[in-house]
Amino acid sequence: MITIDGSAGEGGGQILRTSLALSLLTQTPVRFERIRAGRRRPGLRAQHLSCVRLAAQVGRAEVSGAELESQSLTFRPRALLAGDYELDLGTAGSTSLVLQTVLLPLLHADGPSRVRLEGGTHNPLAPPFEFLERVYLPWVERAGGRVRPELVRPGFFPKGGGEVRYQITPGPLVGFELLERGPLRSIEAEAYLSRLPDHVARRELDAVAAALELEPEALRVVRPRRPKGPGNALLITLRFAHATEVVSAYGEKGKPAEEVAADAVREAQRLLAGEGVPVGEHGADQLLLLLALAGSGRFRTLAPSGHTTTQQALIPRFLPRVGLPSQELSPGTWELAVDA
Ligand code: ATP
Repeated sequence: MITIDGSAGEGGGQILRTSLALSLLTQTPVRFERIRAGRRRPGLRAQHLSCVRLAAQVGRAEVSGAELESQSLTFRPRALLAGDYELDLGTAGSTSLVLQTVLLPLLHADGPSRVRLEGGTHNPLAPPFEFLERVYLPWVERAGGRVRPELVRPGFFPKGGGEVRYQITPGPLVGFELLERGPLRSIEAEAYLSRLPDHVARRELDAVAAALELEPEALRVVRPRRPKGPGNALLITLRFAHATEVVSAYGEKGKPAEEVAADAVREAQRLLAGEGVPVGEHGADQLLLLLALAGSGRFRTLAPSGHTTTQQALIPRFLPRVGLPSQELSPGTWELAVDA
């Protein structure tokens, strides 16, 4: 059994999710201690419990300690089974993060799977649905897995109620190199608006269009039907010849639409002015795990975030033959690699 100190490195939910995924993939039992000890409200929160529950279904696992606020947990997988899986998070917790706990394991299962999740689809501090659809899943496809994502209905904090579906077809994963992003091809902006007045989205998109010099055809308002609660997410998609980036910002009560737009624009401009790397800060830790499972690969990115260095320390605990060398090529530009 592998023991994982949940307070190590970044010390958040990512250690739990990555460890559950690797436990399923290697069929290694795992014991967690000090789960999220460094966070303001430590222990398992609802989103993390959902990750454990779904991973337990996929792995027919024996689990103890899976309770809210629990700081220790034991997870013993007994299988890795394809199938139809459904989970209602019951909160606005991120369905993207819950999916990512089981996606790579299901890509190694004995047949195709379907996963249907209800909860949040556009959450701050997590990949929005479109990040998975346009950035992460194309990497999975490039490695040889096939995943069809469907956003049935968006869900926002605090009501949740969104729904996503994923069809997952396994394939042997092979590594790849992603060293250049190539020239910029297009920029699009989308404003999700649920139970809020139209002018919110209009003002956000006008501000983005003015700052990034976008034509009206590049702007879109998305109004979900029958939303559970109010919500506003602003997404900017930057498409380069060999890479795509999705940046996101979220409306909240009392925050002017122009400020939401300024947050997203700032991040988009930082990427545009940046080092020309194909993988941004948020994607790096997610891509590293994918390539580690594929057994090889190399990509250029920005200086590794706490999430990325945490993955670099965690992955070899489960995959001891995988080396994860990294080097700074020039100030702010790094190359991360996987050697098996
Ligand atoms: P905690 O509350 O313990 O921080 P958590 O489970 O909500 O836990 P993290 O451990 O911080 O989350 O992990 C968040 C994950 O979401 C990381 O993989 C990070 O790279 C990714 N992420 C965060 N923001 C974005 C974003 N805007 N776009 C894409 N991915 C993101």
